[in-house]
Amino acid sequence: MITVVKNTATLEQREHLISWLESQHVQVHVSEGREYTVLGLVGDTSHIDMELLESLEIVESVKRVSEPFKKVNRKFHPADSVIPAGTVSIGGGNFAVIAGPCSVETREQIIGVAEAVKRSGAALLRGGAFKPRTSPYDFQGLHAEGLELLMEAKKETGLPIVSELMDMKDFDLFESVDVIQVGARNMQNFEMLKALGRTDKTILLKRGLANSIKELLMSAEYIMAGGNENIILCERGIRTFEHYTRNTLDLSAVPALHQMTHLPVVVDPSHSTGIAAFVKPMAVAAAACGADGLMIEVHNDPPKALCDGAQSLTPDQFDEVAEQIRKVREAIS
Ligand code: PEP
Ligand code: MN
Repeated sequence: MITVVKNTATLEQREHLISWLESQHVQVHVSEGREYTVLGLVGDTSHIDMELLESLEIVESVKRVSEPFKKVNRKFHPADSVIPAGTVSIGGGNFAVIAGPCSVETREQIIGVAEAVKRSGAALLRGGAFKPRTSPYDFQGLHAEGLELLMEAKKETGLPIVSELMDMKDFDLFESVDVIQVGARNMQNFEMLKALGRTDKTILLKRGLANSIKELLMSAEYIMAGGNENIILCERGIRTFEHYTRNTLDLSAVPALHQMTHLPVVVDPSHSTGIAAFVKPMAVAAAACGADGLMIEVHNDPPKALCDGAQSLTPDQFDEVAEQIRKVREAIS
């Protein structure tokens, strides 16, 4: 349920209303706007008398929120959320490109790629140290050593770091990682989502291979229900009957998510297409349809990459894509 409070209400009147609502055993989520303050009520609201609430002088309107996702719902928080990601912000007009290799492989590789993508305008560096691979015989990542190399790259370039966590037992290793990625395969690892909800880390939550937009929002709700509001959503393509591309990039998820939630939406044209030549057109399309950022895989030597070489751009190709993205952003602003 949401209760829209007029901004003519005094702080005292508003606080009084909030304490009364809390005494009714619901959680109150406050979102302050210029003209109104929205009180989002979470919990069992069936016993709350809507007409009584509506009759209060300071209340503009009261509405039931039928969707099962509450705190991530735009009805609870009408303005776009701006999410901190290290030294940068994403959302609410703050656009950021996250770039880097699928996996951290060597010091030369990660530092070389970090310097190159920074020169091209990337705002964050990505790199996997724990890799969710389909085959147990494939490269699984450098684990703690990979995270240390990412920290060196961060020290060299100043770029904040995005890296995937696959198991909470490794959480302490991620202390200096600015954004923790929850990969597609873990989108519905509810115990992990709950645990991350109790932290204050910014989470990049990727859509599962076979998950609907609503399921993605319910997973974000798990994190937010625990108290962590720093969430960035990522559309990374879904499984369909089409196998020419690795996945099918659902670009309509961008406006759909923007309508349903206040959280920023980043698009990953690398995992969604699986083909380096398709990354530029889809990155440009994502920027054109209003994505708040992009995540692009870049490798210094794609044919020799230990993971996802076929979809990785060279630093020169990335430079060209970054330039095109800037042009699109200018054209639509
Ligand atoms: C990745 O970003 O490295 C990754 C494994 O992506 P996804 O979880 O979307 O497959
Ligand atoms: Mn990858």
